[in-house]
This record gives sequence, structure tokens and C-alpha cells, in this order.
Amino acid sequence: MGISKNLKGKEKMSQVLALKYRPSTFDKLIGQDSITQTLTAALDQKRLSHAYLFSGLRGSGKTSTARILSKCMVCDQGPTSKPCEVCENCQMANENRHIDIIEMDAASSRKIDDIRALIEQTKYKPNSARFKIFIIDEVHMLTKEAFNALLKTLEEPPEYVKFILATTDPLKLPATILSRTQHFRFKKISKRDIVNHLSHILNLENIEYEQEALEMLSRSGEGSLRDTLTLLDQAIIYSKGFIDAKSVASMIGLLDPQVIDEIFDAILKNNRSKIIEFVQELENYESEIIIDEFIAYLKERFFEEDIRFSSLLTERFFRILSEAKNLLFLNADSGFVLSLVFFKMLEATNIKTIDELINSLEKSTSPIKETKKAIPTPVQKMPKKEPVDCATLYQKLLNSLYDRNFEVGECFKTKVEFVSFQNNELSLISCADEKCKKTLRHASSVIKFLVKDIFGFDTKIKMLPCDKKEEELEKELKEKENKANENSSSMMEDIETKDPSSSSCIASDLSQTKELNGKDILNDPFIQKAKELFNPTRIVIKQKV
Ligand SMILES: [Zn+2]
Repeated sequence: MGISKNLKGKEKMSQVLALKYRPSTFDKLIGQDSITQTLTAALDQKRLSHAYLFSGLRGSGKTSTARILSKCMVCDQGPTSKPCEVCENCQMANENRHIDIIEMDAASSRKIDDIRALIEQTKYKPNSARFKIFIIDEVHMLTKEAFNALLKTLEEPPEYVKFILATTDPLKLPATILSRTQHFRFKKISKRDIVNHLSHILNLENIEYEQEALEMLSRSGEGSLRDTLTLLDQAIIYSKGFIDAKSVASMIGLLDPQVIDEIFDAILKNNRSKIIEFVQELENYESEIIIDEFIAYLKERFFEEDIRFSSLLTERFFRILSEAKNLLFLNADSGFVLSLVFFKMLEATNIKTIDELINSLEKSTSPIKETKKAIPTPVQKMPKKEPVDCATLYQKLLNSLYDRNFEVGECFKTKVEFVSFQNNELSLISCADEKCKKTLRHASSVIKFLVKDIFGFDTKIKMLPCDKKEEELEKELKEKENKANENSSSMMEDIETKDPSSSSCIASDLSQTKELNGKDILNDPFIQKAKELFNPTRIVIKQKV
């Protein structure tokens, strides 16, 4: 065959893999099936164009294809898609020393003079082959003048001249060039093709490896076979004969896949302390690489149909990661972005799906208690609302009013009575005189603010009119006073020992609010309690007035 087959022993080992395994025939070309098929058909039907343009990512096989195509055209048996490999032309082509195959790198020879020299060469017939082939690499680098000079020859070259232009950036080529060439677009080589090729090479080289390690290498190579092979060269040296995921990870600066597994495990188990440890541990890594590795990890789990990652959760994770990439693109602090990723992911595991919500609603309304045990899903626990004592809250309100304004506090304490607090409605009876009414009106915004602050933001105040005359009130008060003395147990104790719904501020008996009018109110046991509670203070104030 060619140079690669003739090399043996140590010499063979020392050669870089990209050169050693450079494909010499179309069937050895990796990942560009449609292109090789078209070229094979063109060669076998002898329908050759005078100018080809190969465009695509670096390391996707453009130069290799150009060389194979050239050999196919110069072979004594050719033009053929299966060159004989034994004739002089084939051998010279394989050894890259064919006099009629002229390679030029437009990145270094981009001026008009270089193109003039090339055009000059086209005037002479080929030496030994039937064609004279010009391969111009990175053709987009040519100057405008150089392109113009090339144009005419490209359009109507002598019949023995063939051009193969290669570029990574076809958009930079003038339309006039594009229209004069047969364009082949080389696609990014798939990860699977690259991994297969790597394992094929390692088997030939008798080197053991872990599949995971090859996948990491191919991810790092980003679809460029040449770059991946260069990495494989490094990995062979670095891992001393056995290519495992851990050493490849540390060589490329990637996370050990084991660690990624642990990170996602901690996220799914909502283990915050562990996550914080990871955030600190990962400070030395590049956030962008970590995020890419997370994406690759999730992709794999998704394709494996890992039950821990529902499609909804995967979608949320992907969104978080892509947002993080955008942030990094905007030059956000990388450590911060990574922390954000971790904690957003933690949060994402807490969000319920609509199905879960419906289920939990159904369960909460279902009378069968057993079903509650059925779902072990980790739902974030809400702190239970402790029933709050209304009297305490009301006292707090009074204290706050005093703090703000003594006069308002006094007025409130003496002329306003607590009735109830239910369904976010604070009912009060006001028996304020004109002076007090004025004070209260003046301070209404403060009162509203404090009520909202103490009883809750949605609380509304309901002021009930005082429908009793002063004497009646006083009489009543005295009766209450006596009763209170008879009843040795304090109001507070009662509240604590009795049915919690009657003392709780979050009780929600709607029927009660309807009755809170007129004299009925006074018969309400709850009001009796409240009055008893406020009575002692009321009397003290009365004395002051
Ligand atoms: Zn041949």
C-alpha cells in the first residue's frame, strides 16, 4: 500500500496517529458517506468536473479526500474509484510526492504573484499522469486580486488541469468562484463515527481503553477527526498504555465522570451541603467546560432513558444550562454562574408537574387516608402554621399604636373593641367620641399599615358601629367584671385548653361573620372571652379619662 503500510516497529509507533491512519481510499474515509458516494460515481462514470470545492470544518476530511480523489484521477487504471495502489502514479501519490499533484496553501501564498506562478504551471502538460491537479487549501485566504487572476483559468482551464479548492469558510469566497466549481460540503463527523474510529485504531495498536474515555476525547475534538487523533496521541502517552476516563478527564481538564454522577445524585437527593462542597471543589475548573460536560451527561442519560431524569426535569436542566452558557458569553463571573446552575437545578427538582399537582390535590380532598402514603416523592415541607392567638395579636397592635402615637393608642384602647378576626377580616366596634374619631381618622393610614403588618397583608378592617349608650356599656362592663372575678381561670388558659378552632386566628367559620351585628355579637361566646380579656385594661383607662 502506501507509506503507512511499509512502516514497521518503532518507526510505526512514533508516527502521529493522524498521519499514520490518514485514509488512502474512499472506503476508509470517516463520516462523509454521501460525498464519497458522489465522487465514486463521478470517477467510475468518468464524469469529472474541472474544479471542485470542498468546504467544511477543519479535520473533517477535506484534504484527505482531495488527495484520494487526485490519486484516483492519476492512477494508470483510472480515472477510477478503486486505484490500483501499485502503479508508479499511485505510489507517488500515496507518498505525497507526485509531481503532477501540486498542493498550495493559500494561507501562506495568498498574493497575486503566487496565483500567477500557479497559472504559469497550468500551461505545461503533466509529467507522468494524465492530469495536472492543483489542490489549493484555505482558498478563502486569497486576496481579491489573486481571486480575479485565478478566475479565468478556473473557468476554462486546459483539459489536463483539475482544481480542488478547500476551505473552512466558503462564505468568504466570491460568488464567481462558487459558481465555477462543484461544491461539496463536508459535515461535522458524528461522535459515534469518531469513537468507532478511535477504538478501531486502538485495537490495531494493541492499546486498552475505556469506552467512556474515547467519548470524552471525541467530545473535546468537536467533530474534527484530526484534532481528536491528536488528543488520542496525547492520551496514549499520558495514561501510560491504558486509556481510562479518569486520566483522560484530568488530561483535558474535564471532570471525572464519576464526579459528575455524584453531583447529579446530590442534586436529585436535594443534598444542599454536598452541593456546596462541590461548588467549592469546582472552583479550579473552567465553568464552560463543566457546563458542556453536564450537557453531555444529561444527553446520555436522556438517551439511556434513565428513570431518574424525567423529560420534564431534563428540559428544565437543559434550560438552566443554556442560560448559564449565555451568562458566560456575557462575561459573567464564572464561579457565580456555576453556583447559580447548581442551586437552580436544586430548585428545579422541587417543582411539581401538573400531574403531580392534580394528584396531590385529589389526595388532599380524598377521604381515604391510605392513599397519602402512596407517593414518596420528595416534596419540600412547608412549616405548619401555628394557630396564633388573636388576643396576643390585638395586644401587639395596641402596643404598636402606642409606640407610634400615644394619643392614638389611648383612643384605640378606650374606645375601640376587638370583635373577631376571621377570613382576613378584623372586626372592631368603635364607640369613639368626636375627638377620638378625629384622632383615628387622622391616623387611619398608620392603623391600616399596622393591622396589615400584624394580622397579615390581606387583612381588612371592619368597623362596627357602637349601638349602646354610655350607661349601658358601663353597666355591662361592671357585670363582666364581676363575672370575670367569679371565674378564676384566666382567658389565656381558656384559649389554650379549648377547641383550637375557636381561639385560632385562622379559623374559617364563615357563618359567624354574618352574625356579627347588633346585640347578638355580645352573646357570642368568643366575644365574651374577648371582652373579659380586655375588660381589666378598659377599667384602668376609664379611670384616667
Ligand atoms: Zn494506480
